[in-house]
Amino acid sequence: MLEGEASKCISCGFCESVCPTLPDSGYSLSRGARGRVILGRNLAENEMEKTSVKSFYDSFYSCLDCFACLQVCPAGVNAGKVSQLARELIVENTSPGERDPVAEMIVNVTEATMNPLGQGKAMASWSEGLDFDRDSEYLLYTGNMYQLMSYTGPLNSMRSRIGPTMSGAMARLVASRPSLSSFMSMQNDRRMAERMNGVLRTIYSLLRKAGISVWYLGDSEPYPGTFINDLGYSEKFRKYARRVYQILKSTGKKIIVVDPHTYDLLTNAYPEVLPGYDLEVIHYLDLIKNIEMKKSSMNVALHEPCHLVLRNPQKNAPREIMEKSFMIHLSKRSGKRTMCCGGPTELLFPDLSEKISERRFNDLRSLGAERIVTACPICFANLNRDGTVMEIAELIASNLM
Ligand code: SF4
Ligand code: SF4
Repeated sequence: MLEGEASKCISCGFCESVCPTLPDSGYSLSRGARGRVILGRNLAENEMEKTSVKSFYDSFYSCLDCFACLQVCPAGVNAGKVSQLARELIVENTSPGERDPVAEMIVNVTEATMNPLGQGKAMASWSEGLDFDRDSEYLLYTGNMYQLMSYTGPLNSMRSRIGPTMSGAMARLVASRPSLSSFMSMQNDRRMAERMNGVLRTIYSLLRKAGISVWYLGDSEPYPGTFINDLGYSEKFRKYARRVYQILKSTGKKIIVVDPHTYDLLTNAYPEVLPGYDLEVIHYLDLIKNIEMKKSSMNVALHEPCHLVLRNPQKNAPREIMEKSFMIHLSKRSGKRTMCCGGPTELLFPDLSEKISERRFNDLRSLGAERIVTACPICFANLNRDGTVMEIAELIASNLM
């Protein structure tokens, strides 16, 4: 598969013009789309020993999997897919002790607790006091993504405070004893938790307003395994996805997802690894598209999440909904050219992620709109640099008839 993808490259370099990681890593070619494809091709053609693939860890793991490169490549090469396949080779050709300790910790804790930080109970706190309908045809599946955003910032701050040696040692300890992950409950940004819990409650209310009742699994809701897949643990992901599938399938309901990453995983990644996969998955924005909103004179800069519009090119519900009521301002990097917020690489390359998100924020800010809006928890957490950034559910709810 790696050979099939990488060997199509004609080395034109078009992909470099849209790859977010290239400029923000000082134009280091191995941190750009073409460089990743060339390295992938060398690997596939055995010009490099497979066991030496780990020396290219930075190149393949710094890729955001945004698929911006695929949109402009005349040969149809997906450098994101090349990076994903190379990460799988890295995992296959290394022992646990040689791999990134943070990645190992996240994978082990997820396998043990079905949550990447062992915080399953806290993930359900947003739902306290809400009514759920066991007989509904729909299951609301948050995938824990909004809830996790209150942990990523504090964890990264802690890692930069204590340095890579100490944080690596701590991650190794938790990787070997996942029950120790409970200490991560202390690394929680309360303001972000309140904001993200509020977004989930707002999504619930919007669905109710659209006449849709839902069932919810509460603290039994499993994390979908996004990190396990993104980090290249393909065999573990296949097994983990099977566990999640069985839990969701046992409800007998259609699955409503609320974020682009879970939507992408359940509609693209799960079917690839689970023969006979048959869940009906719906993004909540598709269910509330016809909700009645007032016409607003507010100017809004729309950041379209790459994992929604570049991985599922037929989908652009955020733009469809926003256009009905608001004055939309779009960056040159919109639609098929939208730019990643930098979030997907935040855990392993926080400095690179910070530079990319700052550049994207400045791009959106320069449009002069009153608000910046996005439809993804990761984009929100990364772009939230002033009081103008909103999550799409908040904006819709503020403008209902
Ligand atoms: S745009 Fe496609 S063909 Fe051109 S260098 Fe990039 S991957 Fe290769
Ligand atoms: S998927 Fe995104 S970050 Fe990765 S090579 Fe392509 S454009 Fe660059």
